[in-house]
Amino acid sequence: MAFAVGAFVGLVSGLAFGGEPDLSTPKAAADTTESSSDVSTGSPDESVAPSGPMTSDRAQAIGANEMGQVLVIMYHLFDSEETEWTRTPENFRKDIALLKKEGFYPVNVRDLVSGNIDIPAGKSPVVLTFDDSSPGQYRVLENGSIDPNSAVGIMQAAVDAGGSASPGSFYCLLDVVPKERVIFGQEDRQQEKLRNLVDWGYEVGSHTVTHLNLAKASTQEATKQLAQSQSILENLIGGGYEVTSIALPFGEYPESDSILKNGRYEDITYAYTAGLSIKEAHCPSPFSTKFKPLHIPRFRGSDPHLAQAIKHFKDNPGLRYISDGDPTTVSAPAELPEALGQLSDALGRPVVRY
Ligand SMILES: [Zn+2]
Repeated sequence: MAFAVGAFVGLVSGLAFGGEPDLSTPKAAADTTESSSDVSTGSPDESVAPSGPMTSDRAQAIGANEMGQVLVIMYHLFDSEETEWTRTPENFRKDIALLKKEGFYPVNVRDLVSGNIDIPAGKSPVVLTFDDSSPGQYRVLENGSIDPNSAVGIMQAAVDAGGSASPGSFYCLLDVVPKERVIFGQEDRQQEKLRNLVDWGYEVGSHTVTHLNLAKASTQEATKQLAQSQSILENLIGGGYEVTSIALPFGEYPESDSILKNGRYEDITYAYTAGLSIKEAHCPSPFSTKFKPLHIPRFRGSDPHLAQAIKHFKDNPGLRYISDGDPTTVSAPAELPEALGQLSDALGRPVVRY
C-alpha cells in the first residue's frame, strides 16, 4: 500500500497545524514575543493553535464569525481557451492568487461538513471543487512530473510557495465518453493520481460512474451507481480511505435525499454525508440552521461569478465566515444577521459568543 490511514491523517494535521502557514501567520500578524517563544520552545502540543482556550475577548479581537457563509467554487475543464465550462491555467493561477490575497484559505468538503475548519485565525475558508476528472485537472508529463499547467500542478506550486495548504475536492468519473474524463485520463496513472491526491491532502469524491442524471434514473440504477462509484474509488485508493461526498451530475437530485444518504446494491452498502449542487449561492456555515449538507451550493470558478461571490463579502462583511483559528471551538458574535440563521449544532464543540 502506498500509504496508511494514519499517515494520511498525520500529513493533513501536519499541514494544518504544524506546517509553515500556521507558524508564519502569528509571527507576521502579532507584535508580541509570545508566539515566537512558543515556536522556539517547540511546544509539544502543536494541535492547540495559537495558545490557550478561546475566550470571547480573543474571538472579538480576531473578529471571528464561524456562523458566517462559506465560499464554495466549482471547476470543470482546464484548457488553453476560456469557455463557459473551461478555465485557462493562467486564469486559474490568478484565481488562486486572488483568493489568497482576499484572505481565503482552502478546506475540503469533508472538513466543511464535519465543522473541522482548521485554518489560521482571521482567515475565511474556501472550498475548491473539481467535477468530471478532466485531464487538465491533473496531468502527468512524460518525465513523471506534474504538468505545471494542470490544476493540481498550479495548486501544488501555490503550496510550495508557502502560506497555503493544498485542500481541494475532486469528483471523478469512472466510465464515460470521452474516455479521457475517466479519472483524469492517462489510464496507466489513474490509481497513482488518486493516491497522490489523498496523500497530499486533497479529497476524492463520487460523480457517479457514468455522469448519471439522478433525477431521471430509476432508483435501482441510481442506487447501483452510488454504491459502485464509492466502492471502486475506495478500492483504488486503498488504505481504508472513505469516499463521503458526491457532486451531483448536472446538479440533478434523486426523488428523495434518502437515496443519497445511504443504501445498498447487491453486497455493497454506501453512505454519503455531503452532496454538491450547482445552485449559485454562498454556503451557510455548517453550524447554522440553514446548512444542508446534501445541498451545498457552489459558484462557478469563472468570470464574473467568482469576482461577484467575493464582492458579496466586501459589501456584507458581517455575512462572511471568519475563523477564530481554533477548530475545536465555534466563535461568533452574540447578535447575527438573520440571513445567517441560528446556531443549530456546534458538532460537539464549545461555543464562544461575544
Ligand atoms: Zn459533471
